Amino acid sequence: MIPYGRQDIDASDIAAVTSVLKSDFLTQGPQVPAFEAVIAEKTGAAHAIAVNSATSALHIAYLALGLGQGDDLWTSPITFVATANAALYCGANVRFIDIDRDRYTIDLDRLEEALIEAEANGTLPKIVAPVHLAGQSCDMIRLAALGKKYGFAIVEDASHSIGATFDGQPVGDCRYSDICVFSFHPVKIITTAEGGVATTNNPELARQMSLLRSHGITRDADLMTTNDGGWYYEQITLGFNYRMTELQAALGVSQSRRLDQFIDARHERARRYDTELGGLPLRLPFQALNQRSALHLYPVLVTDDAPVSRGELFELLRNAGIGVNLHYIPVYRQPWYRHRPGAGGERDAFPAAEDYYARAISIPLFSGLTETDQDFVVQTLRKALSPT
Ligand SMILES: *Cc1c(COP(=O)(O)O)cnc(C)c1O
Repeated sequence: MIPYGRQDIDASDIAAVTSVLKSDFLTQGPQVPAFEAVIAEKTGAAHAIAVNSATSALHIAYLALGLGQGDDLWTSPITFVATANAALYCGANVRFIDIDRDRYTIDLDRLEEALIEAEANGTLPKIVAPVHLAGQSCDMIRLAALGKKYGFAIVEDASHSIGATFDGQPVGDCRYSDICVFSFHPVKIITTAEGGVATTNNPELARQMSLLRSHGITRDADLMTTNDGGWYYEQITLGFNYRMTELQAALGVSQSRRLDQFIDARHERARRYDTELGGLPLRLPFQALNQRSALHLYPVLVTDDAPVSRGELFELLRNAGIGVNLHYIPVYRQPWYRHRPGAGGERDAFPAAEDYYARAISIPLFSGLTETDQDFVVQTLRKALSPT
């Protein structure tokens, strides 16, 4: 089966992890700070806090911004469930805003309409969490302006976007957001097996997130009420064990060295799809001019003039040994969300997300996708979609 995404591990990655196994620290050693320094350097953010998943990073990001009971977080329904779930962990309510029909990210016109209405009702969100679907951002400049006007914080779910740029600057620099979150799950651009990171320029948010990652415990004398001696630490908030291990961080450092190479490889393969699939009854991914996508995914949308339905095409590709997938089932369709106030139910409220969900298929795209395998994907699509 040709997967839709796959990690790219080389001898230097293996050597990096092996050397940690032989070292003094398997956790809480020098590798995590080293990885955080690499992420800060690559994104240009002042602080990077590494954790055991992007889900954990979203959770501590929302908590650090004060999201709690009775608060609202708004996000896109075309995302992995974790973006929304992390808000529920905080006791907050989730509301979904429909997607933009070009980029498949949160629709800023719909968002603005909803904000005007919420302002009148006194139900403005505390946080808006845009999702950079497939590695392309929404218009962060406009979103940041709305944030200023309506007083909400912005957490970017950039799980698909490490190595991407927006308006000439790296995604993760937090120029237009409070916190930006990346995932290092093996299907993402670089991997730590499991892992995530939150970047920010705000030292107070960084401090809060560091505390929340490790039980709410500090050894920083400035933060403690007293100091009984060398053994002493204080728990000053209720945190979690969301720490990344040294093995994961060493893999992250090693993978980061090839980040640009991975992104270039994804672009080369996407360009081949752009050329080879042109003319078929498929809508190919849109590329905004002021950004360079990380191209985590290559979603194609089956158009009305196709001789087969999306469901048929999906099955046909799977049966041919092509591990296509669908990113994502709109979160409001999940049974857990269906009956939540504001979050579920009314599919009529999401015409663009419904249309996307009815048509999309993610076809294989990753740095190690061979030309032979890509040709096979192209040929299979051509055969399936030529008029009979
Ligand atoms: C992968 C992903 C997550 C969760 O990442 P983990 O590291 O697996 O917790 C969250 N949001 C989006 C958009 C993702 O793609």
